[in-house]
Amino acid sequence: MAQRELPLPTVLEPRGRTLGPEEREAVLRVLDSAVLCSSFGQEARTLERRTAELYGRADAVACSSGTAALHLAVAAAGVGPGDEVVTTPVSDFGTVAPVLAQGGRVVFADVRPEDGNLDPEAVAAAITPRTKAVIAVHLFGAAADVTRLRELCDRHGALLIEDCAQAWLGEDEKGRLLGTVGDIACLSLQQYKHITAGDGGLALTDDPALARAMRLFMDKGWDRSEGRIHRVPGLNYRMPELTAAVAGAQLTKLPGVLAARRASAGRLCAALDGLTGPGRRPVPPRRRAGHAWWMVPLLVDDNARWARALAERGIPALPGYLERPLYANPALPGHPRGLCPEAERLIDHTLLALPWNEGYDEADTDRVAAALREVAAG
Ligand SMILES: *Cc1c(COP(=O)(O)O)cnc(C)c1O
Repeated sequence: MAQRELPLPTVLEPRGRTLGPEEREAVLRVLDSAVLCSSFGQEARTLERRTAELYGRADAVACSSGTAALHLAVAAAGVGPGDEVVTTPVSDFGTVAPVLAQGGRVVFADVRPEDGNLDPEAVAAAITPRTKAVIAVHLFGAAADVTRLRELCDRHGALLIEDCAQAWLGEDEKGRLLGTVGDIACLSLQQYKHITAGDGGLALTDDPALARAMRLFMDKGWDRSEGRIHRVPGLNYRMPELTAAVAGAQLTKLPGVLAARRASAGRLCAALDGLTGPGRRPVPPRRRAGHAWWMVPLLVDDNARWARALAERGIPALPGYLERPLYANPALPGHPRGLCPEAERLIDHTLLALPWNEGYDEADTDRVAAALREVAAG
């Protein structure tokens, strides 16, 4: 009998995460200090400084989640009742929840069939005088066309917010870090992201007014340097010191995480490039330089069939990534089916998202490639 192979590592177990002695030491350092709230400690402030430096941006605001970071951004953009924010229907709900929380209206623009990122033409058509911001998501770690979106936003006086939750250290075709073109860039430290502290977020900006607005919104509208005065309505989105300490240790490991993901995803793509034969082969991303490989998105003929066949072979795969576009959720009523046909085609038929992991070694990667080869052969 063939030896049973271990399941592939996942983000819900130690071998699929990079949590080790450094994080343990960081947690104990904070516990021993007795200062667990970031209003009174240095861990979150240090994390902000290091992240801003890493991205070459003037400021970073740490907060409790990626969704919170996007809420800081949307609030700082001045989004209120009746204001519109243009974004993609293919993303985590955290991309749109802050707009709804502010009483704004989410306007969905369709995506490019090749990578599921916003189609700038569709964004241009969706912009109105009420558009306060565009949120570009770098889906799976592949660059959205921020050059075109930047031009559009500048022309219409809208803010460009980059949702980099899936794109830590990703780069665009010019080699710019994703998160350095928008007015604000948002990162997530949730369990499934490249690096994690369980939950946590960061919002980056070069604009001191936006930085101040976000910092106020993060802490109840309260500038603690001037007494107990609440300048603006805000929430408590503070990042706890324990979280910040773990995130700081994780940040040091981020380049290694990216290198590992790039090596294994590159190996998989090369194997798929070499596929020949009568079957329908899965098509990996054409543009791979700078990809952050949060997941490996493949284009297939029938994603449900592929996901089933891969599951039988022990390979996790999400057909369509989402079950439905964001606008087809009960929380966002009033959107017709067919609103964004390319997004619907990706989700319903052509997109197969392979959860990827820095713990995949060459043998793991070759297993994934072999399973794909089998399914392609029919
Ligand atoms: C994970 C994610 C979010 C939300 O981040 P949380 O930390 O889970 O709140 C937002 N946008 C995208 C694209 C994400 O992947």
